[in-house]
Amino acid sequence: MAWAGGDCVSAPAAKMPDTIYVGPFIYDVHNDAATWLIVTAQHGKPCRGLSDHTAQTIWLDPTMSSTLARIVLLHEVLHACAFAAGIFGDDEIPEEKWVTHVAPQLTDAITRTPHLARYLSGDAT
Ligand SMILES: [Zn+2]
Repeated sequence: MAWAGGDCVSAPAAKMPDTIYVGPFIYDVHNDAATWLIVTAQHGKPCRGLSDHTAQTIWLDPTMSSTLARIVLLHEVLHACAFAAGIFGDDEIPEEKWVTHVAPQLTDAITRTPHLARYLSGDAT
């Protein structure tokens, strides 16, 4: 949805980014059905998205609605931001400290991957 002259204008949703920059890392994003079946079979637990920081890859369930896909992609990007900030796996970290460490990484990801912000907002172009 885009704003033009104070009126809300519907626009087709932006395409999901193929790559996302987070700190020094470049993540590939995949949401094809064949790969998703293999990845989730290997993972062994039900989920809608997965991040592999070693492979710098984010996989998403291709059956999700466009709204849920945007939310799950942002969830996985936040995992990537936490990784780039040095927060690993199940580290217990106070909320304020987590946000302080992750905010610069998220800002970097959105700044260096402008298509990500357009996709997350549902805007076209
Ligand atoms: Zn998660």
